[in-house]
Amino acid sequence: MSSGDIQKMIRGDLGSLKAYQPIAPPDVLSERAGVPIEGVIKLDGNENPYGCSPMVGRALAGYPFYHVYPDPEQRELRKALAGYVGVDAAHIVAGAGSDELIDLILRLFLEPGDRVINCIPTFGMYPFCTEICGGKVIDVPRDKSYAIDIAGIKEAVNEKTKVIFIASPNNPTGNITTQRDILELVKLGRVVVVDEAYSEFSGTTVAPLVPEHGNLIVLRSFSKWAGLAGLRIGYGIFPTLIAEQLLKIKQPYNINLAAQVALQESLADMEYLQGTVQKIISERERLFARLGDLRFLKPFPSQANFILCAVAKGDAQVIHEGLQKRGVFIRYYDTSLLRNSLRISVGRPEHTDALIDALKGIC
Ligand SMILES: *Cc1c(COP(=O)(O)O)cnc(C)c1O
Repeated sequence: MSSGDIQKMIRGDLGSLKAYQPIAPPDVLSERAGVPIEGVIKLDGNENPYGCSPMVGRALAGYPFYHVYPDPEQRELRKALAGYVGVDAAHIVAGAGSDELIDLILRLFLEPGDRVINCIPTFGMYPFCTEICGGKVIDVPRDKSYAIDIAGIKEAVNEKTKVIFIASPNNPTGNITTQRDILELVKLGRVVVVDEAYSEFSGTTVAPLVPEHGNLIVLRSFSKWAGLAGLRIGYGIFPTLIAEQLLKIKQPYNINLAAQVALQESLADMEYLQGTVQKIISERERLFARLGDLRFLKPFPSQANFILCAVAKGDAQVIHEGLQKRGVFIRYYDTSLLRNSLRISVGRPEHTDALIDALKGIC
């Protein structure tokens, strides 16, 4: 069979799909920039610069049951998460990262041509997963201060609309959506997914509202605050009916045992983890002030563990590349709604200092 024949067999609607723009691991960054791996300052993935709880490594080293399949019903996991969130375990489903849950929710609800509301600029996984599931992305731009446009969403909703995604705090802008606004959207009678991947940094959540509403979902992650991005563990708080359906359609063994053990150890070491969250929050405020001191940058206030900066004078791409040469990696944006902008993850204090020095060296 020729490659042309195979090409014709691939779903037509995927041909035009834009690949998701993921971040590269430290060894690749090191090679790309020509700096030794110890010199890589990675401020591009909103990862936790303090790593995970030290209890995780110890527990993983001694765990005796890796040869046994994990529990397809996630009983222990869901119980532990229920205790953390303060809802019944029947509302919880865990995923291999909250990314997996975004995909599963869309698989559950979308039929070809169904619509998903995406409040741009926001997290790229929503449109990516929507298109893979055969849905249609309807972009509703946020306003100048990156608040969602409720009137615009109401106008965009039609009989084909199934899901509305709201990240709160939003990535990459760092601002939250109020509970009042979320409830306004819930009234529209579509599935409202509030992605709270950064909730531990903002101290805000709408999770307690889920049991009272049949169409509200809250997604959470252990990637950012708990430092487990590499183990892929996230979860959602769902109306029970949706939780049951997701448990039915997910891959039976989606959470590996290493991730399960790591999650349980993390929840048993809250004091340590809350300490690192507090360090990141204070460093965010210091980073914000230092960035603001540089006259060519305009940082946007953030409730997450990263800061969006508009480049007021100069070229964001030049800054991005200049930093890269110095071993400092951040995210660069130049889209219609995010012109000439940078997103900087909050690192350790020494990372902030190295970043500011490098920025002064470039501009
Ligand atoms: C990082 C991020 C996620 C992904 O979390 P995982 O649990 O690592 O899949 C989800 N939503 C937003 C808004 C994020 O920034």
